[in-house]
Amino acid sequence: FTILAIETSCDETAAAVIRDGREIVANSVASQIDIHQRYGGVVPEVASRQHILTITPVINTVLAQVPGGWSAINAIATTYGPGLAGALLTGINTAKAIAWSRNLPFIGVNHLEGHIYASWLHTAKELAYQAPEFPCVALIVSGGHTALVLLNDHGDYRLLGQTRDDAVGEAFDKVARIMGLGYPGGPQMEKVARGVNPGALKLPRAWLRGTYDWSFSGLKTAVLNVVNDRLGERMEKVKLAEVDPAFTAQLAAAFQDSAVDVLVQKTVAAAREYKAKTIILAGGVAANTALRERLSATAKPIPVAYPPIWLCTDNAAMIGAAAYYRYQAGLQQDWSLDATPSLKLI
Ligand code: ATP
Ligand code: MG
Ligand code: FE
Repeated sequence: FTILAIETSCDETAAAVIRDGREIVANSVASQIDIHQRYGGVVPEVASRQHILTITPVINTVLAQVPGGWSAINAIATTYGPGLAGALLTGINTAKAIAWSRNLPFIGVNHLEGHIYASWLHTAKELAYQAPEFPCVALIVSGGHTALVLLNDHGDYRLLGQTRDDAVGEAFDKVARIMGLGYPGGPQMEKVARGVNPGALKLPRAWLRGTYDWSFSGLKTAVLNVVNDRLGERMEKVKLAEVDPAFTAQLAAAFQDSAVDVLVQKTVAAAREYKAKTIILAGGVAANTALRERLSATAKPIPVAYPPIWLCTDNAAMIGAAAYYRYQAGLQQDWSLDATPSLKLI
């Protein structure tokens, strides 16, 4: 059963073709990073317009890689939330138009469910890759979300905890901006922090004991205060990363260490409490090497599933995987499905 999946919830225009929920037959992501970079963040109207320009070429790119082309496609899937309304609409309307004109089932997917299902995917060369075993504890860490979810089976989710303020990816991006590291901040932070001793500077950790919740706004403010102290009157005129790269690296390392520490401790505690057979690491921040390594080491002997880096950030392959399991469960949508910017997973 082969699904063509579309993802346009934020600033990536993506399409993929997925066989039986797990095998990536074709995958294409057109990123708008270069376009939004000069604004220091995603501009919603610009994103919508760019999706409209790019969606057809991206779909044609993946279809050209599928033996049999359109005749091999059995269903159309798309993200319908959470995300930017105008951006989501491009994917939804394109998917509806294709499904209607080709008389194919139409499946709507929650973007966060997609991030989780990235851990089910493999390429044609990795047929031996084992799917995560239930029950799973999934740590979703992305630009807009930070949540801990218990999965007892496909589609059976329970929210264990979440951030009370900033998402961790958002905190990475804001802190990078405060230090003058550019956009998107997460990868830049990781790059400058690599190999640097995180213990040179001490930053706070919000434990929120007795819960599986997180808070990252205090950590963000702490970084702002350190940068303020260091630059003093020069704060408005210069970027820390330009005038003091060594200190910037220490601060980035300390920030990353603090964020990774609280994420890992709580995730592993929850995995033990709920006797998880697999921990799933999902979302853009799952690309972070320090987080991947610390989680794997701390969770032992519980295995940690994390996707390759190209499947951590937004893509349509993960949407195709989630769509397959929804379709198997008899869940598909009618033409009334609309963009749902603040769609919840649970
Ligand atoms: P959401 O999935 O919540 O709707 P989104 O789709 O915008 O939000 P993703 O694309 O899943 O978010 O992830 C992007 C986020 O991941 C950004 O905040 C980015 O800084 C962060 N990120 C990407 N790579 C890394 C990395 N190596 N280290 C830390 N953060 C990273
Ligand atoms: Mg993105
Ligand atoms: Fe995402």
